[in-house]
Amino acid sequence: ARSRSGSFAMAVGVHTDMASPHLYWTGSEALKEKYLPAICRGETLTAIAVTEPGGGSDVAAIRTRAVRDGDAWVLNGSKMFITNGATADVYFVAARVEAGDAGRRHRGISMFLVERHTPGFTVSRTLDKMGMRASDTAELSFQDVRVHADHLLGREGVGFYEVMRVFQRERLVAGLQAVAMAGRALEDTIAYVRERQAFGGPLADKQVVRHRIADLATLIEAARWLTYAACLKYQAGEEAVREISMVKLFTAEMVNRVAYECVQLHGGYGYMREYAIERFARDARLMPIGGGTSEIMREIIAKQLL
Ligand SMILES: Cc1cc2nc3c(=O)[nH]c(=O)nc-3n(C[C@H](O)[C@H](O)[C@H](O)COP(=O)(O)OP(=O)(O)OC[C@H]3O[C@@H](n4cnc5c(N)ncnc54)[C@H](O)[C@@H]3O)c2cc1C
Repeated sequence: ARSRSGSFAMAVGVHTDMASPHLYWTGSEALKEKYLPAICRGETLTAIAVTEPGGGSDVAAIRTRAVRDGDAWVLNGSKMFITNGATADVYFVAARVEAGDAGRRHRGISMFLVERHTPGFTVSRTLDKMGMRASDTAELSFQDVRVHADHLLGREGVGFYEVMRVFQRERLVAGLQAVAMAGRALEDTIAYVRERQAFGGPLADKQVVRHRIADLATLIEAARWLTYAACLKYQAGEEAVREISMVKLFTAEMVNRVAYECVQLHGGYGYMREYAIERFARDARLMPIGGGTSEIMREIIAKQLL
């Protein structure tokens, strides 16, 4: 299916490829049996809650705490910028189960399944965004939220590594989304420059416009094949952190270059709300921020090279 709405793709993509894989990969059979069928049918919507008001890039700095109390875990803390946050039924929440020390910051984090109606859980506020406006983004609060012990996913205290594993899939999907968004924007722009008249003929006849379109198409194609190559490696079960980080970095920057140029080629109409290209440019701005920023991708790539 094709959609011009980046937000719709994002809301669905978070559910299918960023949040629910935590249950599929690390949940117990009992939890999977209980939640997965409705998740697959789209009746239960999921969200992934890692980022906190104090920071998102430094995942190991998570401050939300989970303390064991008998056969339950008790969660306290807050989460920020959570997609599907206001509308989800089930949340996968990263929390610290032990304090962790300077040398082992990445240990002591676990992922918990929290149902929306659990006492102590509240959606503090829905956030107003620049783009992706049809996808809700919320701040969440956890005050003495009790979940049964079996709602801890995977092995206790090693959630960071599991989060990182799902991040690889998330970043590939973000890459695919950026490529698809850019392709659609270019299609719209090609149609526009064919129709728009200036100086006695269509814009599409001007060499400078034709060359700009050719450059954008080439850029999108390069991004597409970089993404496909990483998908193949990932699919084969090979280590692909470097390639996937390159995909996330390259496609996020690419889609913003395409957005800038496509708005420019639309002239004044490109700046108007009535044209899809204006929304596209606002939606695209998220790509180098969400799911790991471009700076963090460069850090990961450099770490692998140097
Ligand atoms: C619309 C939207 C939806 C989101 N959905 C979700 C979601 O569903 N679940 C979720 O958990 N999170 C979600 N996020 C959060 C997103 O993943 C974070 O915003 C992102 O990881 C960056 O974290 P931050 O905003 O705290 O920025 P910070 O970590 O505070 O970074 C601020 C700036 O500093 C840079 N920076 C940070 N560290 C370094 C460094 N070491 N070197 C160089 N530069 C650095 C960053 O690249 C960035 O430019 C969403 C965000 C948005 C905007």
